[in-house]
Amino acid sequence: MNHNLFGLFARSAAAHPDRVAIRFGDEQITYGELDALTARTAGMLRAAGIEAGDRIAVMLPNRPEFAAAYYGALRAGAVVVPMNPLLKGREIRHHLSDPGVKLIFAWHGCRAEVAAGSGGLDTEVVSVAPGEFEALMAEQTPYGDVAERGPRDTAVILYTSGTTGRPKGAELTHANLTRNAEAGARLFALTGDDAVIGALPLFHSFGQTCGLNATLAAGGRLSLVARFEPGLVLRTIDEHRATVFMGVPTMYTALLHRPERDGFDVSRLRMCVSGGAALPVEVLHGFEDAFDCVILEGYGLSETSPIASFNLPEVRKPGSIGLPIEGTEMRVVDENGAEVATGEVGEIAVRGHNVMKGYWRRPEATAEVLDAGGWFRTGDMGRVDEDGFFYIVDRKKELIIRGGYNVYPREIEEVLYEHRAVRECAVVGVPHAELGEEVGAAVVLTQPGAISADELRAHARERLAAYKYPRHIWFLGELPKGPTNKILKREIEVPPTTVGQDA
Ligand code: AMP
Repeated sequence: MNHNLFGLFARSAAAHPDRVAIRFGDEQITYGELDALTARTAGMLRAAGIEAGDRIAVMLPNRPEFAAAYYGALRAGAVVVPMNPLLKGREIRHHLSDPGVKLIFAWHGCRAEVAAGSGGLDTEVVSVAPGEFEALMAEQTPYGDVAERGPRDTAVILYTSGTTGRPKGAELTHANLTRNAEAGARLFALTGDDAVIGALPLFHSFGQTCGLNATLAAGGRLSLVARFEPGLVLRTIDEHRATVFMGVPTMYTALLHRPERDGFDVSRLRMCVSGGAALPVEVLHGFEDAFDCVILEGYGLSETSPIASFNLPEVRKPGSIGLPIEGTEMRVVDENGAEVATGEVGEIAVRGHNVMKGYWRRPEATAEVLDAGGWFRTGDMGRVDEDGFFYIVDRKKELIIRGGYNVYPREIEEVLYEHRAVRECAVVGVPHAELGEEVGAAVVLTQPGAISADELRAHARERLAAYKYPRHIWFLGELPKGPTNKILKREIEVPPTTVGQDA
């Protein structure tokens, strides 16, 4: 049996080729047309010498071409490495060189950064511009088969990181992603009548599994939105007669606070899904009242494909991340991996078909999170109640989630440290009303006045994607340290003038 993740899409394409698969603004593509495009994409890759298991990067915004490149690469048997189109040269270099990417489908707008990032590497760059992708593929000989892949073969490598250094590649198998998308489709009760809003980035696990794969596996229609803007999303919900919306909590806050929402017809929305960060209970209730639509909160990570737990419409607890999904287990453990008592706080661990194979060529990092019994330690602190519902209380790792985008402090710190005026620094999340968190940096200079906050911010801004550079920078005489001289981030005080302000 062929376990290729492409099979999810292929089954829907065979069942109803004339149905619309993806809408994007005024454009639309049917299942049959998308299937043909993936065959030509796979044919192009095969002709370029790409073999099963070779890594192909997809650095495209939310557009139909993302689906064509993603499914085309899978069809050819390649491993997909999705990349955020906002990445800058040095970040791109890491994403290309670490997994040894042979070919990248790169958005034309990222040309300069991709050129800078791929310089000297053995990576072929295929530039993708509106309309050009189809024209290029029209010249290719289609590969009508689907490359044979086993359940444990890697399908996608998602770059993610804990506290330790540069992003690592979570290797997700064909079985991981197929089963998670199928579970998502069942949990969200998706059918061919659903129109799902895809405002979450497709390069991230949430948008990829729950938006793209689950929707197309169910034979539904995915309405892509290039970037989250409340007005655009509301208009798309109205015009595309959307039935399902998926988003991170900051999106719900933004939609809720949009005064002109009454002008749009959102009455067909039957369900919303929230994940990626904690959804404040007030936002949940406020949104449900205003939109007359239930929000169900789930939890997961890139390493768990991502869905690990979910609240069902009939059994849910606001404020909770729900119950482990079918065929998986979750528990709360102490530092030694032993289960703690019900109600006690510990680290959340997950086991089941959703847990990644490991981090790409990082056996030590893998061993730190994945034990021999198959338990994956999430780095999130939480508890479980008597009914088996899980709650997240805090993040153990220091990940900053800025408006749904992950920002890893260590990566920012490395860039700050590159400036000679910086002696020490610690990047922390600063509470922000709309974004949830903003990136802040506490910095100790080599000499007082060696550089201004504006100059240092400009230094970081040149080297990092726009969502990552620290908006807030403040100077300290020294940073709080623990017994081993490790910086104690939790003890860093954010200046009161910084909280909630935009720099
Ligand atoms: P990522 O790997 O980008 O999907 O980020 C995963 C992280 O997002 C988790 O480790 C959690 O810290 C956070 N997260 C995801 N879902 C939730 C949720 N429902 N509540 C709180 N935090 C969440």
